[in-house]
Amino acid sequence: MATINYLTTIQFGFGELKAIAAGLEDLKVSRPLIVTDRGLAATDIVEQLRAAAPALGNAAIFADTPTNPTEEAVEAALAVYRENGCDSLVAIGGGSPIDLAKGVALLAGHDGPLETYAAILGGIPKITAKVAPVIAVPTTAGTGSEVGRAALITLKDGRKLGFISGHLIPKLAICDPELTLGLPAGLTAATGMDAVTHCIETYLSPRDNPVAESIALDGLKRAVAHIERAVADGSDREARKEMLMAALQGGLTFQKGLGAVHALSHPLGGLKDVSLHHGTLNAVLLPAVLRFNAPSAEAKYAEIRRTLGLAPDADLAAWIAGLTARLGLPATLTQMGVPRSVIPAIAEAATKDHSSASNPRQASAADYASMLEASFG
Ligand SMILES: [Zn+2]
Repeated sequence: MATINYLTTIQFGFGELKAIAAGLEDLKVSRPLIVTDRGLAATDIVEQLRAAAPALGNAAIFADTPTNPTEEAVEAALAVYRENGCDSLVAIGGGSPIDLAKGVALLAGHDGPLETYAAILGGIPKITAKVAPVIAVPTTAGTGSEVGRAALITLKDGRKLGFISGHLIPKLAICDPELTLGLPAGLTAATGMDAVTHCIETYLSPRDNPVAESIALDGLKRAVAHIERAVADGSDREARKEMLMAALQGGLTFQKGLGAVHALSHPLGGLKDVSLHHGTLNAVLLPAVLRFNAPSAEAKYAEIRRTLGLAPDADLAAWIAGLTARLGLPATLTQMGVPRSVIPAIAEAATKDHSSASNPRQASAADYASMLEASFG
């Protein structure tokens, strides 16, 4: 167990869910809205949460978080928040409930519409300390959203946009590996590859932040050492703990910015006709992006190879593709059911995504289209 104060307060360790009672008291809030999804609401995890603090016993709940959070869902949850006179949010689940809660927290203290606050539309300085307090309790090991300053939300017109502000960082993150023990193998693999991608992309980002870089490399090392164990045996407590730490570390380095993988997976995740898992998308896109970025980040690729214990001439992209295959994840966008017809629109959207600016090699729409082509197999 450890208390870490870097960006925000984190309670990490088996059984730490109980820390939520003191967390609510410290924040001086008493009427939280629980935000989760239908899958989790059907398990006993929400009951465990309710039992962990008096204020949560009969707290209002919003359990209709979609696979990828939408503006409609933010508005629906905000209505529940207001009807119940809530003063805070407790998000429990993967990245989607946590991002949704951030959206609700934003609009609870700021006038809409949501679009006003999108990073790409100049919204960052409009987000103030009026954001309602959020406590995040991840039940997957991947998103890092529990310590991240961003929320990714699909607007009514289909654009999946980033909302970014230090005010959106949850006031408390409770990382209890106990809650990840029941995560199915497929989701363990997909969310784990999201963590791997966060560590790689933030490390490769050209922004100067050696502290974040060392966290990213350590998180990467931890993730690749334990992801196969966690997928093979979900009850492996050591592997679960290490994966949750790696995911947290990925989130702690977001401040450096992500890269082309996320610039592509954000608009793909916003597609209306096909529901695509963010982590799986990242795993599929990562090899093509690594090949594209290679000429612009040679020294960092060498450091990643050293960190992973690979030979100096190892093909990093091929190694990642091999890992993804061993985890049983799809190898191509075709296997995920993405139609090739989306290539031009997604390539164009990627150039406008906030993550594109911190990719180590500048990518045009044509470059993004090539990376997509390669990812279709
Ligand atoms: Zn991600």
